[in-house]
Amino acid sequence: MMTTRQRVTVLGATGSIGQSTLNVIGQHPDRFTVFALSGHANMAQLALDIIRFKPQFAVVPNDTRYRQLLELLPNRNCDILIGEQALADVASAAQVDTVMAAIVGAAGLKSALAAAHAGKKLLLANKESMVVAGALLMEAVAKSQALLLPIDSEHNAIFQCLPADQSQAGVDSILLTASGGPFRQTPMEQLLTATPEQAIAHPTWTMGRKISVDSASLMNKGLELIEACWLFSVPPEKIEVVVHPQSVIHSMVRYIDGSVLAQMGSPDMRTPISYGLAYPDRIVSGSAPLEFSQLLQLQFDQPDRVRFPCLRLAEEAMAEGGTVPAVLNAANEMSVAAFLEGDIGFMDIPRINEQVMTRLGRSPVESIDQLLEVDRAARAQAAEQIKALR
Ligand code: NAD
Ligand code: MG
Repeated sequence: MMTTRQRVTVLGATGSIGQSTLNVIGQHPDRFTVFALSGHANMAQLALDIIRFKPQFAVVPNDTRYRQLLELLPNRNCDILIGEQALADVASAAQVDTVMAAIVGAAGLKSALAAAHAGKKLLLANKESMVVAGALLMEAVAKSQALLLPIDSEHNAIFQCLPADQSQAGVDSILLTASGGPFRQTPMEQLLTATPEQAIAHPTWTMGRKISVDSASLMNKGLELIEACWLFSVPPEKIEVVVHPQSVIHSMVRYIDGSVLAQMGSPDMRTPISYGLAYPDRIVSGSAPLEFSQLLQLQFDQPDRVRFPCLRLAEEAMAEGGTVPAVLNAANEMSVAAFLEGDIGFMDIPRINEQVMTRLGRSPVESIDQLLEVDRAARAQAAEQIKALR
């Protein structure tokens, strides 16, 4: 049977998830064609991908990047668009079937929301947009009947382990696994002086810098807890965080009859990405098969909320609800960036996040503009705290 190829927009194409997505797409030229790619800083990578995948559009943030990219593309074979509105446009264009939302941070919110409103198949890697605006994103998906598929490995695992209709029938709870990050066994006094290099050296996954620091502080697990509450409409009490250092089990669902279903695999994002791209089919992803003869042991432990206060902060933010998760996310984006710049210490990240959360308080969620305003206010507040620490 002839099948038409899925037309895919990859937002954040130059990043870790974006590159893994293009790797999977490149293995299946019979199934996928690229409609648009976006990149923010690495124009050399973007140019290479434009030459290879021949998208109709590329999106860059400003005139400087536009000129850089143009120089790298002598026989200009695609239209280069500029700015945030262009991201939303290539995410919602009529010619697009599937959108990979792989921009990092709240910067990816408007384009992810545009894809949801337009009823696309939305492959969501950008967890921050769900943390900031879960209510609005889920509402947009329901209204437009978009197909929302989680790409975050844990949420993709949970999606695979839930009943096929994604109902909660017979579900008791969700077990969200965490590797524990590079500082799983690091004593508190060493965390105080931890460097960015140590924080981004993740034991099992290779990822962008921001999410790597989040994994080290367990903020990543906190953001994922909030993401899971929205994606699967469960309250936080129904989600248990389990530390599992080998990252072989990507998460589990516990059923009322005593069954626990787990999804396993090598720690390679091409597995959840290919699942999302081909859903409901299965395709080859290029990830190495799990070798059970080489798996010495699978360990499980409880998370430590004293050394890793960010997990507790996320739990509190979700319990408070409203705009609080958006405040926490914005504060965290600022504190992580300051830590990566060497301006603050590793344990200042939770400190700043908590101070900003306390100062800004809670309002009910009204609109995307309100959330973007809250995001700005929280960033301004975090910037002040960072300045005071420098
Ligand atoms: P990355 O830093 O490697 O890539 C980020 C991408 O976003 C790049 O293409 C960059 O150009 C673009 N970008 C950065 N700032 C931007 C801005 N202001 N406007 C527009 N584009 C911008 O990050 P990553 O590791 O690929 O992660 C991307 C998203 O996927 C994050 O939300 C992360 O939490 C999530 N995620 C990543 C992994 C992983 O294994 N890397 C796993 C699960 C979820
Ligand atoms: Mg994850």
